[in-house]
Amino acid sequence: MKTLVINTGSSSIKYQLFKMPEGEVISSGLIEQIGEDKGHIKHKRYTSGREDVHEEHAPILHHQAGMNKLAELLTNEKYGVIKNTSEIELVGHRVVHGGEEFASTTILTNEVIKTVERLSDLAPLHNPPNLIGIRMAQKVFTDAKQVGVFDTAFHQSIPEYAYKYALPEKYYRENGVRVYGFHGTSHRYITKKTAEVLNKPLEETSLISVHLGNGASMAAIRNGKSIDTTLGMTPLPGLVMGTRSGDIDPAIIFYLNDQVGLPISEIKNILNKESGMKGLTGTNDLRIVEENAENGDKVAQLALEIYAYRIKKYIGAYMAIIGPIDAIVFTAGVGENSPTIRKISLGGLDHCGIILDQEANLAAKGTSLISAESAPIKVFVIPTNEELEIANQAYALATE
Ligand code: ADP
Repeated sequence: MKTLVINTGSSSIKYQLFKMPEGEVISSGLIEQIGEDKGHIKHKRYTSGREDVHEEHAPILHHQAGMNKLAELLTNEKYGVIKNTSEIELVGHRVVHGGEEFASTTILTNEVIKTVERLSDLAPLHNPPNLIGIRMAQKVFTDAKQVGVFDTAFHQSIPEYAYKYALPEKYYRENGVRVYGFHGTSHRYITKKTAEVLNKPLEETSLISVHLGNGASMAAIRNGKSIDTTLGMTPLPGLVMGTRSGDIDPAIIFYLNDQVGLPISEIKNILNKESGMKGLTGTNDLRIVEENAENGDKVAQLALEIYAYRIKKYIGAYMAIIGPIDAIVFTAGVGENSPTIRKISLGGLDHCGIILDQEANLAAKGTSLISAESAPIKVFVIPTNEELEIANQAYALATE
């Protein structure tokens, strides 16, 4: 079954076309700078181990034009992969916020779409473009079943005592103020992969999943289910991220507003776009921070310590709440590629049963075991694959 996975952002459409159930990628690409003077298109086709790349620079006026372009790329005589859009039988959409309404993958009926629309208040930057993508795809891929896979869904198993904030109850009841968590598709994929690698049933697998990309979060997983996560009602708290602060004393916001005189809109921008590694060092690219640290830059060295310290703190917290764990798993851009961050964040945890094999940590490529043989808790690097997880879930639902 040809299954198209779509991730629509405010100015981009990211896609991957899979042959399911094999999970084989036939094509992938990115249509970006939608609505700007010059759009950028990068389209790839994979045929028996070969990768052909087609690139274009042309204005893409709006998302509808972007979706039409996607259909054209997929069906193009030269670099396309299908003859007709009707060959696409299934479209899986990444949807950021599913609120309390969606604990699993769902067929996008009109009623479901209306609910996602209502949830836009909770994710004003993400749900509206996701919705545009859904509507446009319905128009272009008319024969396909459209399915929504929610970033928040995996965390709906978090118990009430963990998802509630200690605020007046009415803000939860009337305004939905609670922990929702994000990166659920990645944490779910990592949980399944870990169970596979350990050769254990999913419902008996407990782990700490550490997703370190530009956005970053950890999830506490007991017996295959998420019981807590570091992101909250919004993707701002928890770990130090590329440009987001992660945990701060909330009263800093009042201080910056009352005493420093910054308007709330500017504080919001600072916490989301000017903080994290960028705020600490001037760049959100961890590769550069690591290079500078190696060259003796004290600011960069401290930033790495701050970043890793927060991870270590949550590892301790999650070991306390989960009970015995099988593994700690690192994933996403930083998690998969930075032996330095893995080493600092797990340093000195021998007394907890966490001991890295330093050579294995340095050599890790793809799915790798990086803990010492004697260590009771295994540490893995496992590459995440959110697109494949969306395709798997959409396929499972469509063929139920
Ligand atoms: P996104 O959240 O945007 O999907 P990614 O998962 O691609 O992000 O991760 C991006 C981050 O990964 C960036 O901070 C980048 O610097 C970091 N990264 C990528 N490769 C490496 C590497 N080899 N060493 C250290 N950090 C890396």
